[in-house]
This record gives sequence, structure tokens and C-alpha cells, in this order.
Amino acid sequence: MTLPALNMDQSLIEISGLLGSQSGSIQYRAGSRIFEQGQPGDCAYMIDSGYVEVSYDDKGKRTFLATLGPGEIFGEMSLLDGQPRSATAIALHETTVICIPRKQLLDAVNAGNPITRLILIASIARLRRRQATNFLDGEETGRRIDRDGHIGPRYAAARANAAEQVRLQFELESAVAKREFKLDYQPIVALADGRTAGFEALVRWPRSGKRLASPMEFIPTAEDTGLIVPLGLWILERGLQALSAIDRHLDAQRADRQPVFMSVNVSPRQLDTEVDIERLATIIERADVDPCTVKIEITEQTLLDDPNMAMIGLSRLKATGASIAIDDFGTGYSSLNYLHRFPLDTLKIDRSFVTKIVDDPSGQRVVSAIIGLARELGMDVVAEGIEELEELRWLQSHGCRYGQGYLMAKPAPFTKALSYLHQDFEW
Ligand code: C2E
Ligand code: CA
Ligand code: CA
Repeated sequence: MTLPALNMDQSLIEISGLLGSQSGSIQYRAGSRIFEQGQPGDCAYMIDSGYVEVSYDDKGKRTFLATLGPGEIFGEMSLLDGQPRSATAIALHETTVICIPRKQLLDAVNAGNPITRLILIASIARLRRRQATNFLDGEETGRRIDRDGHIGPRYAAARANAAEQVRLQFELESAVAKREFKLDYQPIVALADGRTAGFEALVRWPRSGKRLASPMEFIPTAEDTGLIVPLGLWILERGLQALSAIDRHLDAQRADRQPVFMSVNVSPRQLDTEVDIERLATIIERADVDPCTVKIEITEQTLLDDPNMAMIGLSRLKATGASIAIDDFGTGYSSLNYLHRFPLDTLKIDRSFVTKIVDDPSGQRVVSAIIGLARELGMDVVAEGIEELEELRWLQSHGCRYGQGYLMAKPAPFTKALSYLHQDFEW
């Protein structure tokens, strides 16, 4: 994805009435043209503030199509079907629009479900035909906003979601470029003695002016846009720097203990190409840590999406000396076949199973079976999301080696995480 400002067509800049532009947003004075019928399309727009009127000229007769307000997208049609602009867009008031470059729009459409894509293309073709036969009439189609500025609730919700998504993508792209992320570390505890055996590095994004964004909100977008690739490299590098600092700290303390490991999450897209895999492997090889203390967490989905590439990726990462953990184990749809085909070392039992331990006998049987399976295959087990003492006791008594959860500790900044190495958990 490129920054939209760089993709701006020169003709756009020459249009009189342009007030200014910054990082993808462009301001227009009331009455100025955003684009003109017949021009080639270079980007679509989303209205940040103000109103835009869309109309077209049919043999000298101007036909009104729509008045669009904040959150509305327009100018997308000619990008999607490669035809010239079918209408003219004019700013009704002082208006700020966010420019969505062709590549970003097409990437989003192409990443979508093929049926959705087909519907989109068919709808555009239908719209074009209607317009050509002068069927399209402003009263009928354009007034998703009425004259008082009221909009229908379902349309408003869809629009708000789309607007948030576009904003999130722009902010995320800039945050990745500026490395505006931090990592928290959650202890992974040996259940037999309460010692912190390792940590899971979890990414955090202090989104400007907003609360700390949860990775659940932005990792899917980072994956969809490919931003997870550079972000993931940074996370691995930073996580291993933290591990190296932990090692030095323990050396300085002459602590008599097992080496601590660091678990880092890796998304499927990070293993898409051999170049990406090699970059991850190089970070592990160059880090000032024992590679045996590096754990890469992947989900079952990674193995299902492209098993051949996953095999290449995991084998290369294993060759560095790192180990591989299957995250959220049991939530995927795969057969258990892959467990012995791939070079895996650890199963992480998903929290949804752990919460069922206490009063659901079938939940207990599932967790018991996973622990037994791991033992048979010579793999370690980590139970995730332990919140209750009863869950912990049950896991201890059923041979689960490691646990992670709010009962012991929430993910914490580095200094706080370091303190967990000096006080074993007691239950
Ligand atoms: P995950 O890999 O399964 O990470 C564990 C999540 O469970 C973390 O949420 C952690 O804070 C939370 N958790 C830990 N103990 C408990 C507990 O006792 N109760 C409850 N309710 N939750 C607990 P977080 O940090 O919000 O991360 C959510 C997900 O976002 C992660 O799930 C992972 O899929 C993704 N993620 C986080 N950091 C990264 C990263 O650096 N890279 C990638 N690719 N994904 C990440
Ligand atoms: Ca994880
Ligand atoms: Ca997990």
C-alpha cells in the first residue's frame, strides 16, 4: 500500500479551489470540482467532512445523482471497471476528502470473496447501463441522505464501519512506518513450581489520541493489508532484544535458573514467501540470544492455508534452533494429521477449553485428551487464559506443564515483566 498523497494525479492538484492536502486527505473550497465526467479515474474518495454533489451531463442536460456526506465513498466506479469518470463531483461546502489510491481499492476488492466481487462488478455494469439510458434519477437513487441530513440507520452503520476501516488502514500504515508500537510480556509459568519459564510477547498500539488499541482490532487489518509483514519483523526483533536483556539481567544477578524463553506470534501472511521467511530466520540468527529459547507461535490456520509453504517456513525457522508452538489449539478445523507431519514442539490449549474445565465433564475430557496427545507426540503443553484457581489445580493434577493467564499475571511492560523472574507464583 502506498501513501495516497504520492499517488495523486497532477490534474487534481491543478484544479482550482484545492485548499491543501496532507497524508491522503485533500481539502476543497465550496463549488470546486473534485473530478470531472470523462476524466480517467486515479483514486476513489471518502468524505471526511463537508458535502459533495455528484451529477452528470447528458447531451447538455445536467442530471443530479446524489448529495453525499461524511463517511460516503465516491469515485470508485471508474477504478473498478477502468472506464472514464461517468459523473462530475463538486464540493458543496468546504470539504475534506480522503483519497484512496487505485491499488489500495483494487487490493481490497481482489482480496474479497469472489461472489462479492461478482456482485460488485455486476452492480456497476447495471448502474452504468441505467445511466446510459437516462434511467437513473436523483430522487430515486441519490437520496440516502435526505434534505435535512438524515440517513437510514442500516446504511449509516455500514458507512461508519467502512469509514473506520479506511481510517484504521491509514493510521496503521503510518504507525508501522514510524514504529509506533510497543510490546507487553505475559509470563508463561511452570505449573509444578510457580516459576516463570518464559514470556509471550504481545503487541500494543498506543493509537494517537485514543486508548491503547487491542491487537484483536488491528491485527486482522494488518494481515489483510500485508502490513503484518513489516510489523511482524519489528515484533520479532524487539521481542528478541527483550529476551537478550532478560538473559543479561539474569547473568548479572548470577541467577541459578533455567534459561527463559520468548514466544512470538507469527501470522500466516508472514510465511507467504521465501524472502519473508528468510528475513524472520535472519532476525533469529542475528539476535543476541540462544535460538533454543525462541518460540514461534502460529495458529492451525497457518498450516491449513498453504501446507507446502508452511512446511518450508517452519522447517527454515526450526533450522535456526527455534521451536514452534501451535496457538489456540483445538479451535481450527483441521484433522490431527498435521500434528506429526509438521515440526511442532508445543501445543497451546485455547482458553475456550480451559474455561470449561471446572464444571463441564466433557470439557475436562477434551483437555485431558489434548494433554495426553501432546505427551504421546513428545510435545509440551501450555494452558492459556487461566483465570480461576480451580482451573489451575485441575491442570496441575492432570500433568499440564505450563500455564498462562490473568490468575498469574496479565501482559505487562518489560520492567514489570522482569520482576516476575524474582518472585515465583504461589497458589
Ligand atoms: P493470543 O496469541 O491467543 O494471545 C493471548 C491473548 O489472551 C492475549 O490477548 C492475552 O492478553 C489474553 N489473555 C491472557 N491471559 C488471559 C486470561 O486469563 N483471560 C483472558 N480473557 N485473556 C487472557 P491480546 O494481547 O489482546 O492478544 C490477542 C490476540 O492478538 C493474540 O491472541 C494474537 O492472536 C494477536 N496478537 C497479539 N500480539 C500479536 C503479535 O505480536 N503478532 C501477531 N501476529 N498477533 C498478535
Ligand atoms: Ca499467542
Ligand atoms: Ca492463544
